[in-house]
Amino acid sequence: MNIVLLGAPGAGKGTQAALMVEKYGLAHVSTGDLLRAAVNEGTELGLEAKGFMDAGELVPDSLVISLIKERLAAPDASKGVIFDGFPRNTLQAVALSAEFDLMGEKIDAALAIQLDAEVIVKRLSERRCCRDCGYIGSTQDPVCPKCGGEMYQRDDDMPDTIRNRLDVYEKSTAPLIDYYRGAEVLYEIDGDKHPDEVFQSIQDILG
Ligand code: ADP
Ligand code: ZN
Repeated sequence: MNIVLLGAPGAGKGTQAALMVEKYGLAHVSTGDLLRAAVNEGTELGLEAKGFMDAGELVPDSLVISLIKERLAAPDASKGVIFDGFPRNTLQAVALSAEFDLMGEKIDAALAIQLDAEVIVKRLSERRCCRDCGYIGSTQDPVCPKCGGEMYQRDDDMPDTIRNRLDVYEKSTAPLIDYYRGAEVLYEIDGDKHPDEVFQSIQDILG
């Protein structure tokens, strides 16, 4: 089973992906996580990506697509994949379909998590992440509730960058909802609920 998670930044894709990994045993492929890891390791790709990320712009497609191809070649990807933060525009969606055709794979469902813009801005400005295990929490978590690690604010969770990321989402990524509707794999989910309730809606769809 291969799943694409769609939704604005802050819609809860990362949180739902973690729950889906546990329940369905799929591999979590987050281009945001892969890019942040490259930035932290100081690789050439990371250095090239950082400026785009801090500005809330999309990293160039060629970089992201090569990261994805490499990730899909890893052994755990064969058990099925949850794409989180990818594809982010039509070119990336077409590249993914082409790669999957070559691999004899297909996308079984695209889950679009819907949330109003005001809720998103509030969530992102209060979001804090664990430096050690990647847990996604908020200003309400003084330390990571999972591992006790330090919680930090992502460089791109600052008000100006948040607004730009929402603009980029509307312009480049939201059209993918129609793309996957056309492919007859789209499911829309209300994201303005407790994570457990959102996850219940996902399980109702995936079984
Ligand atoms: P969020 O969904 O909260 O914006 P992500 O972790 O998915 O966060 O992405 C953070 C940043 O990484 C994006 O703003 C963008 O700069 C870059 N990025 C992530 N995925 C992609 C992608 N598929 N294409 C281009 N840039 C990406
Ligand atoms: Zn942690």
